[in-house]
Amino acid sequence: MDDAAHMTPDEFRRCGYALVDRIARYMEEIERYPVLSQVRPGSVRERLPRAAPEHGEPFADVLRDVDEIIVPGLTHWQSPSFFAYFPANASGPAILGDLLSSGLGVQGMLWATSPACTELETHVLDWLVDLLGLPGRFLSTAAGGGVIQDSASSSTLTALIAARERATAGAVNERGVVYGAAPRLIAYTSRHAHSSVEKAMKIAGMGSGNLRLVDADAGYAMRADALESAIAADRAAGATPVMVSATLGTTSSGAVDPLRAIGELCRREGVWLHVDAAHAGSATICPEHRALIDGVEHADSYTFNPHKWLLTNFDCNCFWVADRAALIDALSVLPEFLRNRATESGEVIDYRDWHVPLGRRFRALKLWFVIRHYGAEGLRAHVRRSVELAGWFASRVEESGEFELAAPVSVGLVCFRHRAGDALNQTLMDRLNASGALYLTHTRLDDRLVLRLAVGAPATRREHVEAAWTRIVETARGLTGGTPAPA
Ligand SMILES: *Cc1c(COP(=O)(O)O)cnc(C)c1O
Repeated sequence: MDDAAHMTPDEFRRCGYALVDRIARYMEEIERYPVLSQVRPGSVRERLPRAAPEHGEPFADVLRDVDEIIVPGLTHWQSPSFFAYFPANASGPAILGDLLSSGLGVQGMLWATSPACTELETHVLDWLVDLLGLPGRFLSTAAGGGVIQDSASSSTLTALIAARERATAGAVNERGVVYGAAPRLIAYTSRHAHSSVEKAMKIAGMGSGNLRLVDADAGYAMRADALESAIAADRAAGATPVMVSATLGTTSSGAVDPLRAIGELCRREGVWLHVDAAHAGSATICPEHRALIDGVEHADSYTFNPHKWLLTNFDCNCFWVADRAALIDALSVLPEFLRNRATESGEVIDYRDWHVPLGRRFRALKLWFVIRHYGAEGLRAHVRRSVELAGWFASRVEESGEFELAAPVSVGLVCFRHRAGDALNQTLMDRLNASGALYLTHTRLDDRLVLRLAVGAPATRREHVEAAWTRIVETARGLTGGTPAPA
């Protein structure tokens, strides 16, 4: 039997250079592609062979198919005219850090399985506590600590499980949920919070029916008084409040829940406070945006996504807890095959106890590369430019007679709509996205269709936001039969 045809280090070098060249060309040419992929369902698979190849193929053939089959089926998230959802930043240093992580191929489930993988992660997350203005209790040198997870959804699930075990003194983990017998375990979040909170309730076995969607104020932020009433009503009914998930920068409109009031309430009630700052959390690297986290010293856990706005390729979510013992107590298991002296000494962090999976990639490398390449000032400059461009766009909306703002402007996110109603806004968005010139997505606020413009791609400059505004206005005028206003 022949040996497997492993790529030799020399072949790897050659193919690797070719691939890096291909990625660099992609960066140079990104503006040429239609932002939203224009292919129809099934058209990518149609071009792939029915069966996997029996014989190995040259790398050049694979790269050719990337160009011919894969790239046309992409939506270009790094395009300077990508304004949909939230950004998912990539950057040179992050790509290289990810490549190095793959190249080293280590598995960091325990400290002992690669000490540098754990220690760099702990260290970089301590750096970020300072850089983002988060409370000292999140530091690994205090009682807390941070961990990198795959997504904010996973972090919120992890927080919920730790909160559930703290509220039940470990009873659910030990004996399972006894339907009907155990007190109902309740969590709270705003009506405008991310769907990941509901998903976490399902996965944690607490039931989406035990998630209270608390009413919001006119700016779509959670009402602390409504939260207080909901908790009181549940306690009166014999239920156990477990966790409040406050959002700093909702996905829908960028609304910021009143963290200080919610935090003080959670302290009084002994309820776990989780803070979901998935997108907006990047902004607090700038001192002028620290008002966002006013009251965060009351949080038991906090999550944000460098993979959205902080120039670090997906996946890279940061999660901190104020009391790591609560998290580890909830998630720790120790089968015989993982026993080792370092773990038993109690001197090391074993990150497998900090999240759902056992195995873990060396994701801290890309974050470390990013922070060292840009420095704090470079990261701040990126956030500031996005905020400034979103502000510029919001001003155009405010000045225009045809469009209006649909929510308070948030960091890097503008919610707006044409005054002519839902049908026009829908057609407008569909036309814009089909043009390939830019990509926007929508939300519903007060039962009205609202368009969202999220700025944050590293390549986005003033000219791209100006071009987007011009195209939005002209397309709308084409649809309403309106004529351009005199200059
Ligand atoms: C994007 C987002 C999430 C989900 O992030 P993932 O990392 O994809 O799980 C959760 N909450 C908020 C507020 C978000 O904006």
